[in-house]
This record gives sequence, structure tokens and C-alpha cells, in this order.
Amino acid sequence: MHVAIVGAGMSGLSCAAQLVRSGHTVALFDKSRGPGGRMSTRRMVTPLGEAHFDHGAQYFTVRDPAFMAQVARWSASGVAAPWPAAGTGAWVGVPTMNAVVKDMADQHDVTFGWHVRGLVRREGGWHLAGEMADGERSQKGPFDAVVVSLPPEQASAIVALHDLSLASTALAARSQPCWTGMFAFEDRLPFKADTVREAGLISWAARNGAKPGRKGPETWVVQASPHWSTQHIEDGADAVAQALLAALGEALGMVLPAPVVASAHRWRYAMSTGSNLGALWSASSKIGICGDWLLGPRVENAWISGRTLATQMMARTPQEVA
Ligand SMILES: Cc1cc2nc3c(=O)[nH]c(=O)nc-3n(C[C@H](O)[C@H](O)[C@H](O)COP(=O)(O)OP(=O)(O)OC[C@H]3O[C@@H](n4cnc5c(N)ncnc54)[C@H](O)[C@@H]3O)c2cc1C
Repeated sequence: MHVAIVGAGMSGLSCAAQLVRSGHTVALFDKSRGPGGRMSTRRMVTPLGEAHFDHGAQYFTVRDPAFMAQVARWSASGVAAPWPAAGTGAWVGVPTMNAVVKDMADQHDVTFGWHVRGLVRREGGWHLAGEMADGERSQKGPFDAVVVSLPPEQASAIVALHDLSLASTALAARSQPCWTGMFAFEDRLPFKADTVREAGLISWAARNGAKPGRKGPETWVVQASPHWSTQHIEDGADAVAQALLAALGEALGMVLPAPVVASAHRWRYAMSTGSNLGALWSASSKIGICGDWLLGPRVENAWISGRTLATQMMARTPQEVA
């Protein structure tokens, strides 16, 4: 099969790897400018030099034996390392969180900066309709099958016209938002620990530069709780950054120096409810869906979901050929 994959985050790339291993060809399309999805890293130029912020997933845990083997391979090639400050068994990408996704993306045909707006079914197979950031529209195809590896709200919108059953499963899932603050300071903040959990409106804060392999100025990433993020979902990024900065000062028990960077990113679909479905595949429409939300909002689950989908797609293929 020649498979189009919409979304080149952890689940889409995991699906791609498994399909390619079984002799299929894949082409991935992602609206972002670079690799990572919700494991992205934001790079900023500051007066103190370049600063990096892992503003999505903070670390990942490993339970599944197959994922354990994958993480061991990442570790051996230097793109992942343990980060004990987040707890026993916590891993991060090195030198940035998106390094593992980048490593995976490098092995496939990925088109970044192309926003998929819809699917078109024509004789010869599936086509994707999409556009570049500058508004230039085009179609790609034909493909024998399409994999949609997006948060449920975005997945349902893409498949709704073609497979109501898949769309209604996705519509039943919900994601919670997360406002994330990114701050850089001239000097190291005199706070002993590198992480803070559950303090006021903060659900998690971390000294980003304390993760293994990081360089650059003192950086902190601050995540607001789902409740606070929902209440402030339409606030402006500058106001949110100031609120998160104040909350960080309170959590650390100090008057913070003026940051050289204070920025906020809104993840509208950060953490989704898990469903235990693993993945969704329709042999009749030849549309599959994978993503963390089919198991639970964790990096490991995204990886497992992509792999599960590929296995389901391959299981159907011989019957269809016969
Ligand atoms: C703030 C935050 C903190 C988190 N913390 C942790 C943590 O500590 N530990 C943990 O294990 N997990 C954490 N997670 C969850 C983890 O990041 C996800 O489980 C995982 O990255 C999901 O991967 P995915 O491939 O399913 O989805 P995504 O990574 O969301 O991939 C979807 C991709 O599709 C692209 N896309 C979307 N729409 C389109 C379109 N129309 N056309 C083309 N491309 C499109 C996006 O750009 C994205 O690259 C966190 C997530 C967030 C947001």
C-alpha cells in the first residue's frame, strides 16, 4: 500500500515506521514547520544567546516492553536520556524533547508546513487537499489508504465526510487545554529543586535547562492546570505569560528577576481522555486513526497507538488482496 499519514507526531511516525518495515510506502504531511507535534521544542533568540523550551511533553515514561526496546535504541543513538529529576523512569529527548521525533521523521518522506484541510475520494484512491502557510492550495495523491494521527477534535473534522463511524468515535473524545509559559533569566534562580508540581494554578513547572544535554541560559517552562487553562482559554498570550510568571514566583517563594524572555503558548488540545481502543481502522473506507487519545495522553501511548494501527492495517491487507 501507498499510505498518506496526516500528522507527523509520535503516533503518525510510529505508524509509518511499522508500515515501512512491512514493505509499504508512506508519505507524511504536517502543518507545523518542524517535527515534534506535542513533543515540540520552541527555539528563541535572546540577548543571552539561543534558548530552547520543551513546551509540550515534559518527559515520558516507559512500561511497554516494545517501547522499552525503542527507547533503548534512542538512548544508544544519543537522542534520549533519563531525567531523574522528574522521577524514576522518566526520559527526555536530547538535546531537546523533539529530538526523538526528529530522529524518526528523518527516516521518512515528511512534508512540513502543509495543512491538510480534507480528504477527497476519487477513482484511483485517496487524495489529500491542503494548503501551505502562504495560502497556496494543492492536492496530493493518489494513496491506497489514509492514516489520521491527530487529536480527536481535529481527526473527527477530517474524516467526518467519509466515515461517520470513525468520526463519531473521535467526537466522543475530549481534550483539555494547557497554557504553557516559557521564561528565560539572566542568572540561575536560587531554587534547589528543578521541578514543581501542583502549586496554585501551576500543574507543573521545570527548569528546562536542567534536563540532560541542554545548553544556554536559565530557562523555565510553566504549565497551567487544565482548570485554569480552560477558564483563560481565550486570554491573550502576554497576559497569560504574566500570570504564569507571577505564579512561578509564588511557587518558588521568591521575587523573580525580570525575565529576558516571557512568552506563552496555548495548547488547545493538550491532554485527551483515553479510550482503550488502541487504534481505529476501517477496511471499507481504508481510513485509519491513531493517536495518544485512543489509549491515554502520554507519549508512550501515542507510540503504541501508531504501531497498533499499522498492525491492524496489515492484518486486513492479505484478505483484501484475496
Ligand atoms: C503541554 C503538554 C504536556 C504534556 N506532558 C506530557 C508528559 O509529561 N508526558 C507524556 O508522556 N506526555 C505528555 N504530553 C502528551 C504527549 O505530548 C502526547 O501524548 C503525544 O505527543 C501525542 O502524540 P500524537 O502523535 O498522538 O499527537 P501530536 O503530537 O499532537 O501529533 C499530531 C500532529 O498533527 C499535526 N496536525 C494537526 N492538524 C493537522 C492538519 N490538519 N494537517 C496536517 N497536520 C496536522 C500537528 O502539527 C502534530 O504534529 C503532553 C502534552 C502537552 C500538550
